[in-house]
Amino acid sequence: MFVGHYAAAMAAKAIEPKAPMWTLAAASQLVDIGWSAFIITGVEHASVDPSLPGSTLVLDYMPWTHSLPAALAWSAGAALLVMVLLRLPIWASVAVGLTVFSHWLLDLLVHRPDLALWPGGERVGLALWNYPVIEQAVEIGLIAICGAAWVASRKTLGRFAWPAIGFIGFLVALQIVAMLSPQPEGPLEAASGATILAIYLVVVIVAALTDLRGKARGAAA
Ligand SMILES: [Zn+2]
Repeated sequence: MFVGHYAAAMAAKAIEPKAPMWTLAAASQLVDIGWSAFIITGVEHASVDPSLPGSTLVLDYMPWTHSLPAALAWSAGAALLVMVLLRLPIWASVAVGLTVFSHWLLDLLVHRPDLALWPGGERVGLALWNYPVIEQAVEIGLIAICGAAWVASRKTLGRFAWPAIGFIGFLVALQIVAMLSPQPEGPLEAASGATILAIYLVVVIVAALTDLRGKARGAAA
């Protein structure tokens, strides 16, 4: 799952608008942001097998980001961090923490069994990646549903809808580019990790733009 993760950020933003969108976008992919940094540094590793359906990634070692205890720790850590550093209210911080954890749940849906229930323990994954058309439909469907909720909540708050719609369009374009960009076979190199990390950071910046002030004309609030 790639852009489908951002659906969780949109849902959280619709429910808790006080949480900044850049924070929620980063939260929804925080576990993968950590993962790409660990691919660069060699702490975790993966390889690419072009014969695989859906995602060609073989995620053989990622205990520090994608095991269940690790995902819980990242979630709690992120909630605490935004409460202390960004001084977010408690519910906005909880929303950030839950958004971080949503990543593991959505990965559980699509990954082949590579998510350890405890470090070195049983690995789980419902393997929707083996059905690429359905998997893509789920990702885009999640974006559509949660994106609609986000747009609706912006309208209630008297905010323009178009920055949200622009962000959603950007994500769909990104998904198409990602689908059309095959990875070279073999171990996932540090350079690929750096490219993936850069993409996540660009999305965070674009997400931040959707929170810039600009109220719809004639709106009450
Ligand atoms: Zn992941």
